[in-house]
Amino acid sequence: MSESKQRLEIVTPQRKVFSEDVDFLVAPGADGELGILPSHTPLITSLNVGIMRIEQDNKKFRIVVSGGFMEVRNSKVTVLATAAERTEEIDVARAEAAKKRAEDRLVSKTPDIDTLRAEMALRRAIMRIKAASGK
Ligand code: ATP
Repeated sequence: MSESKQRLEIVTPQRKVFSEDVDFLVAPGADGELGILPSHTPLITSLNVGIMRIEQDNKKFRIVVSGGFMEVRNSKVTVLATAAERTEEIDVARAEAAKKRAEDRLVSKTPDIDTLRAEMALRRAIMRIKAASGK
């Protein structure tokens, strides 16, 4: 691997989503966005549901991660995410339906509704729609 690159691996319980050398990435860290260049100091952090922005050669692209952990060590970035999708894998209609379901649950205010769960589902859907629309 060249000195200017770092390995990025993103895995979920189901599959390996990404495993390539990249130049730079910005991750949705639990305490805010984290920019990572090769040779970054070692760290372990939890991740928010959010968009990972990646630069590779002259390309820029995004991967939605639905929470998890990130380890950075020796120019290797490992992300263990509950779910993750490249933008081209995102089914926008499915995300729109998930968003509507979560919104309906949140406004219904029935006592048995798990508000946190609905809020997290809403955030996943919003991030998927945002990433797929390139915003
Ligand atoms: P849904 O209610 O539509 O299942 P969700 O947010 O509850 O949405 P997750 O539990 O986060 O879904 O994900 C379950 C699996 O489905 C994961 O593998 C995830 O990558 C995939 N997935 C979820 N939503 C989408 C989408 N809109 N497009 C593509 N893959 C998706």
